Amino acid sequence: MTSIQEKIIALKHKKNALILAHFYQTMDIQEIADHVGDSFELAKCAQTAQQSTIVLCGVRFMAESAKILNPAKTVLLPAQDAGCSMADMITPEQVKRLRAEHPDAAVMCYVNSSAAVKAESDICCTSSSAVRIARSLPQKRIIFIPDQNLGAYVASQVPEKEFFFFQGFCPIHHAVTPQEVMEAKKAHPKALVLVHPECKIEVQERADFVGSTAAILNYVQNSPNKEFIIGTEVGIVQRIRKTMPQKSAYLLSDRMICLNMKKASIEDVLYCLKHGVYEIDLPQAEMKGAYQSLARMVSMQ
Ligand code: SF4
Repeated sequence: MTSIQEKIIALKHKKNALILAHFYQTMDIQEIADHVGDSFELAKCAQTAQQSTIVLCGVRFMAESAKILNPAKTVLLPAQDAGCSMADMITPEQVKRLRAEHPDAAVMCYVNSSAAVKAESDICCTSSSAVRIARSLPQKRIIFIPDQNLGAYVASQVPEKEFFFFQGFCPIHHAVTPQEVMEAKKAHPKALVLVHPECKIEVQERADFVGSTAAILNYVQNSPNKEFIIGTEVGIVQRIRKTMPQKSAYLLSDRMICLNMKKASIEDVLYCLKHGVYEIDLPQAEMKGAYQSLARMVSMQ
């Protein structure tokens, strides 16, 4: 453990803070976190946190979700400008317009969205819960926002429902091409291809497994296979190499790096704890509306 990591641990106890880190954070941050997980696991941890402060090492929408689910806590985001390109693609007004076009449809919102957009939705979902939630909704028609690729994946798994999509996407996952899958397979013929449902459907179709980051990690852990081509952010490849050294993981494309997720450094986490920055503060109306959508998601697991 480095001296900065030791300082963070000491300060965390002194300030009664809980540190949560997403799988896409750098390994030195993951090492000092109390919990490392995907956005759903982090939301659940935040909801039941006993500490007075939650430091969310991830991007803004994750810290917003922590605040919405546990409003009495101080929630801090170490990198103030760590946003999400997908979340920024959709506005509350666009959600209202879609609802007006399809008044009998439920609005299902991927958690990679702002609090204001969640507040206009009926229920949230994560990539690990989206299929289950879509199946269990009483409505036969679903407006899926904002990720068109996760939406297409859910629609393929839930053919009994009718879906309407918003054309949002994650630039990191959406940029991967079927050609890159073929090239990676050629370079590593014994490897299985595991991709995130934020990848395009034609990439998903060429994969051996499609799942959330947590599901990909579970798959690698439990598979008798030794080699894997990973079609999600580089942090998952680094985590496999660190925690499962007996397995070989190759990144599907060198471009799969989310710069927003890498904005916070270990020094930023120390600064954040020391000075109590950057605190998440949301308007009451947004908090209330978004809480309904998020709490419904958490209760449906
Ligand atoms: S990987 Fe994509 S969806 Fe995830 S935080 Fe980065 S930009 Fe947003």
